[in-house]
Amino acid sequence: TSEAGSGVEWDKETLLEKDRQYLWHHITPHNPNPMIGVSGEGSWLTDIDGNRYFDGMSGLWCVNVGHGREEIAQAAAEQMKTLAYFPPYHSHVPGIRLAEKVNEWLEGGYRIFFSNSGSDANEVAFKIARQYHHQNGEPTRFKFISRHRAYHGNSMGALGATGQANRKTKYEPLGTGFQHIAPPYCYRCPFGQKEGDCRMQCAEAYEDVINWEGAETVAAVIMEPVITGGGVIVPPENYMKRVREICDKYGVLMIVDEVICGFGRSGQRFGHQNFGVRPDIVTMAKGITSAYSPLSATAVREDMYEVFKKGGDSHFRHVNTFGGNPASCAVALKNIEILEREQLVERSASLGESLRGKLEALKDHPLVGDIRTFGLIAGIELVEDKQSKAPAAPDKLAHVISECKKRGLLIGKNGDTVPGFNNVLTLSPPFVTTEEELDFIVLTLGEALAGLL
Ligand code: PLP
Repeated sequence: TSEAGSGVEWDKETLLEKDRQYLWHHITPHNPNPMIGVSGEGSWLTDIDGNRYFDGMSGLWCVNVGHGREEIAQAAAEQMKTLAYFPPYHSHVPGIRLAEKVNEWLEGGYRIFFSNSGSDANEVAFKIARQYHHQNGEPTRFKFISRHRAYHGNSMGALGATGQANRKTKYEPLGTGFQHIAPPYCYRCPFGQKEGDCRMQCAEAYEDVINWEGAETVAAVIMEPVITGGGVIVPPENYMKRVREICDKYGVLMIVDEVICGFGRSGQRFGHQNFGVRPDIVTMAKGITSAYSPLSATAVREDMYEVFKKGGDSHFRHVNTFGGNPASCAVALKNIEILEREQLVERSASLGESLRGKLEALKDHPLVGDIRTFGLIAGIELVEDKQSKAPAAPDKLAHVISECKKRGLLIGKNGDTVPGFNNVLTLSPPFVTTEEELDFIVLTLGEALAGLL
């Protein structure tokens, strides 16, 4: 049996055999030799062979407080022993406490609805937005405006909101009513503007789309503060504010997807707080529990909730069995307690600044086209050459990722976008990362990139 796998009863070959026979891996052709992770401590993971890896993506942008937190496991165990389950149309202690805490982190004024995943949280946001308009006497408002490159989840509505063709074809038709506009992608400005002559047409475009669609048909816009999985696309400073103004002008709601940016990843408690806007609806998942247990939430402006409180048939007709599971709420409370006690949001901000500085060392590499950071997120866009900005071929990214892995560093890349645009390496390390570990990340990336010369 494997030494590395405490509690692993089978040897690696048996496990791989059973994996090949029974398990269906997510979003990948079946890999007959997947990594089998067995343990984690801080920012490090150990696989079944005893190899250690720095978790440069915090799993899937989620294990923000790091692996192996005994007190989170204890909080879950205690809650499971006390009350494992209670239907979500009633209430329970960790759910009430967590709703209060999330509202506090959002600076007040929100009502919190719990679900299980980021996709769920966005589905809930879409349904609430439509029902809100319905009950407000505007039943024709059903459309949502999202952006190309965005990822908002895998269910039919959330995938409808997603702006990446490869994830959608073969599953269409998806949820209807989703329109997409160009993202604020300054490195390749979709409006052909040069640095210094930016008139933020990417934000003004919302007004055009709303008008051409007919404002009376538009329910909401949905956006991440920064497009994360779609290539770390950081907008101009005033972009969100301008979109907020346009939304207000036309009675369109603003849904902000904080599934990745929320809970400190952006260097503030929530990503939108960096841009001085107040969304109408905020969705969150991943970092709410640092992925120790599944949970998500949809926060809705308190005065919008009034429309659902009128009695008769006005309530929100939505339930999911596991939504706001007591143990997950207890885990989230402990996770947030750790973020506060260890000042990890502040630490995320300072590590992010430091990482931004250290990554400068890579910018002269001939294949590094652009380096973008936001809080403790970084995207390194690879090109064939800096002049043409032609996106680097996928095998070049695969090479860097595999060379990093050989050296004990796990990194990511942007998801399935349109062919030819899978060219952004991503980093999203845990908030407990040290300066030395940041040096290790940048040094390792440099060595891996050197192999492309
Ligand atoms: N929204 C964003 C921005 C995401 O990155 C993701 C997942 O990566 C989701 C929504 C969907 O979350 P989940 O995978 O928990 O359904």
